[in-house]
Amino acid sequence: MIEPDRLLYIRWLAARFLLFQKHLSPVIDVRELELPHHVFIASFSEFSKATGVEEHILTGDGLLSDGYMIRRKNCRIVLYTQSYDTLCPQRLRFSLAHELGHIFLHHSDDDQKSEAEANCFASQVIAHDAIVLALIRGSWKTDLALIREQFGLSWEAAAIKLRSLNRNPRVYHPDEQLLCRKYLTDCRHGSSHSGRKFATAYSTAFIAYEE
Ligand SMILES: [Zn+2]
Repeated sequence: MIEPDRLLYIRWLAARFLLFQKHLSPVIDVRELELPHHVFIASFSEFSKATGVEEHILTGDGLLSDGYMIRRKNCRIVLYTQSYDTLCPQRLRFSLAHELGHIFLHHSDDDQKSEAEANCFASQVIAHDAIVLALIRGSWKTDLALIREQFGLSWEAAAIKLRSLNRNPRVYHPDEQLLCRKYLTDCRHGSSHSGRKFATAYSTAFIAYEE
C-alpha cells in the first residue's frame, strides 16, 4: 500500500520524466526515451558482448530472465532479456519501467514497499493516469479495449488501470495536464524522433563500467 502523498509524488515524477521527452509515441517503451546520463538499458546479450561476461552468468542460467538493475560506480544499468521483445513485449516494457522506478525513486532495498512504488511508477510511465482519464469515454467495455490498444497493455493491466484510476480531474497536477496535452499532440503528429540515442551513450557507459 502506498501512502496517498507518495502516490501523488510518484505520479508527478513519472509525468515530469515523460514531459521532458522530445517525442512520445502511443505505446511507450522506455528504451526509446531519453534517460538521465547515468542510466542505461541493455539486453543481456549486448551487455555480454560489451563486457565479456557470459550471458548464462548474467541471467543466473535463466533464473533472472526478467531482468534487473546493476550499479557500477555512478552508473545504473538495466539488463533485460531480448527475446521478451517478441515473446511478451508488454511484460518487457513494464519490467524496464519498473527498474527505472527503482532508480528514479532512489530505492536501496528490494522490500515490498519499494516494489509497490516501482510498480506504480512503471504503471504511470506506460499509461499515465492523466492521459488515460483524457481518453476514456465512460463505457467500461469500450474503455478497456481503447486503453489496451492505445498503450499496448494486456487486458489485465488495462482493467487494473481503469479500476485504480482517479477520475477527479482536480487531483491532477498542472504538469500532469501538460503531459496529457503533449502525449495527445505527439501521437497525432506521428513519430519524428527515432529514439535510441542509446548506442553512443551506451559505449560511454561501458568505458565508465570498465574503469
Ligand atoms: Zn523491483
